[in-house]
Amino acid sequence: MAELVQRYLDDLVAEYAGVSDGALADYIPELTQVDSSGFGLTLSSSDGFLYESGDARTEFTIQSISKPFTYALALDQVGEDAVDAKISVDDMTTTPKNPMINAGAIASVALVPAAGPDERFAKIRDFYSACAGRPLEFDEDVYRSEKATGSRNRAIAYMLDSFGVLADDPDEVLDVYFRQCSLRVTSADLARMGATLARGGVNPQTGRRVTSTRVVQRTLSVMVTCGMYNAAGDWVSAVGMPAKSGVGGGIVAVLPGQLGIGVYSPLLDARGNSVRGVLVCRSLSERLGLHFLTV
Ligand code: GLU
Repeated sequence: MAELVQRYLDDLVAEYAGVSDGALADYIPELTQVDSSGFGLTLSSSDGFLYESGDARTEFTIQSISKPFTYALALDQVGEDAVDAKISVDDMTTTPKNPMINAGAIASVALVPAAGPDERFAKIRDFYSACAGRPLEFDEDVYRSEKATGSRNRAIAYMLDSFGVLADDPDEVLDVYFRQCSLRVTSADLARMGATLARGGVNPQTGRRVTSTRVVQRTLSVMVTCGMYNAAGDWVSAVGMPAKSGVGGGIVAVLPGQLGIGVYSPLLDARGNSVRGVLVCRSLSERLGLHFLTV
């Protein structure tokens, strides 16, 4: 069985390796420097067994895949009521509704309780690392570039501050957000992070409980509805797994109870999702019958 799965992944990577559609993210110079041919695929079973193919150990920045994990950490640390008071609810509240878009993601950062930005970032990094099962490193160049060019995110943070959503200094909160986006992962890390969610908050490799099943349920819910930018609807119907993508070229997908999938390929489609990442996940879902609404 293990050999079959391995061969299947190798065939998939070979099948899509020739696809060169899409473009590298170019909103910061650092992301235009990456090797556009990079292509890694990792699948983690719910008992922690890894199947890897291609450039599964190539590091890239996590970018927006950080969003569900910081949302989970905020839920874990302060509970649903405190999180819902700042993220979600309705038009009348002037609070951001969605932790998968930047406003909600920046609000999530501010919800993580900490004495200052360094402690807050340490908590976030530790949480992602516990999900990945190894200490994640930080990309200084990407961070500096994000910080130097982040006018849009700065505008969002100040708008949130004017609405009273951020309990702390907006520049400090933003600095932590830029740092979390600049953490480096591999497709193997994403598969393990996905498998931790698939196992209801227990990292299957280390056996450590990272968060509760309730937090995971909320996190997977926002990933199902909003994880793939404006392609979330197409993704749910074609792939049928909670997922999150980032402009670094990564995608994490989760089949609850069963699998975590990590894919890396930095050429993005017009909606910001990895072209080969989407193709591979569609194919895996179809051929292995992974759609979560399969009856
Ligand atoms: N650091 C990026 C930003 O906040 C992340 C973008 C993304 O992956 O969607 O603008």
